[in-house]
Amino acid sequence: MFSDLENFNEVNELEVEKVDPNKPTPAVVHNSKVRKFLLAGDCHCHIENMRSGNSFEYKIQRNKKKKNMYFVNVASGLGDIYCGYFYVNADLIDYRKGEKGAFGENDVRVQALLFTLRNARKLPTYVVVQHFGKCAHCGALLTDIDSLHRGLCSLCEY
Ligand SMILES: [Zn+2]
Repeated sequence: MFSDLENFNEVNELEVEKVDPNKPTPAVVHNSKVRKFLLAGDCHCHIENMRSGNSFEYKIQRNKKKKNMYFVNVASGLGDIYCGYFYVNADLIDYRKGEKGAFGENDVRVQALLFTLRNARKLPTYVVVQHFGKCAHCGALLTDIDSLHRGLCSLCEY
């Protein structure tokens, strides 16, 4: 009897280990939350356009000194590639390759991101934006359903 109970506890501990609460949970960002998510300051995301078939992974980081300026990196098989930067002025998204950037506005990776940003207020359903389980502003793990839907933790949902 006593040894049975011990076995039962062991099994439980193993199950708890499998569902690790410290492991990020990737999820799709709700379409109405995409603009805020992408411009939150430290955004790591995956964007898939099901119409064009394009799908890329980005890091979009706000310039700490110029709040309306963002740097764009795209993931590749060889690691992150710095693409360029963009300015946000209300609804205008002004992209520049700059001197150190790898891709101009006509590059498909840049186009896929700019299309999403420029249409983010009314994003077509064929564009799917996904986060990797961390707040796009502070990096905290997203755990509750509301946070997972917006890609921002409850503290950063300003
Ligand atoms: Zn946060």
